[in-house]
Amino acid sequence: NLRCRSAFKLLEMDDRFHLLRPGYSVVDCGAAPGAWSQVAVRRVNSAGAEPESPIGTVIGIDLLNIPPLDGAHFLSSHDVTDPTTHAKILELLPSGQAHVILSDMAPNASGFKDMDHERLVTMCFCLLDLAEKTLRPGGSLVCKYWEGALAQKLQDKLSSVFGSVRTLKPSASRKDSAEKYFFARMYKKPIKQ
Ligand code: SAM
Repeated sequence: NLRCRSAFKLLEMDDRFHLLRPGYSVVDCGAAPGAWSQVAVRRVNSAGAEPESPIGTVIGIDLLNIPPLDGAHFLSSHDVTDPTTHAKILELLPSGQAHVILSDMAPNASGFKDMDHERLVTMCFCLLDLAEKTLRPGGSLVCKYWEGALAQKLQDKLSSVFGSVRTLKPSASRKDSAEKYFFARMYKKPIKQ
């Protein structure tokens, strides 16, 4: 009863890297209709299904409406790139800190490949501002991007604040799509100048 096939991409990445653990706090960006959040709720135990394990937190954000889900807090009609949204996420996070930021966000494709690529990469850069406010040192970020000229710039930026960054193409992702994910681990809080 997963809401969307995209869940398999997160399941596959998490089976391989174990980024979601019971008790963790997760921010799911671009969460509608909620399939990644369903996976996150199970894996961090935010609905308390495993009474012996620590209870985690899942916060999902989308421009669209996200139907309610036990164990998740949803901010529907919210823009992840808007700093006022960041403030609301911060309030919902226990101790104001996330272990993991997930982003499966994508703008509506215009069909102009370069423009869509640029828009998505720009959104990914906003995730770095969100990380600076909410991601705990040592935390991880998974973000979708579309291949193109600016991908290297985004990877370089991620590498400057994370200990390890790798590119993933889950087998559940269509081979003919330009979609890929960056998986960045071991967050180092940038030092304020
Ligand atoms: N991971 C989701 C799931 O498993 O149900 C599917 C996500 S879907 C591929 C991408 C979502 O990103 C869309 O619902 C879209 O509304 C959302 N989105 C795009 N731009 C956004 C923004 N600036 N802020 C929040 N959500 C955004």
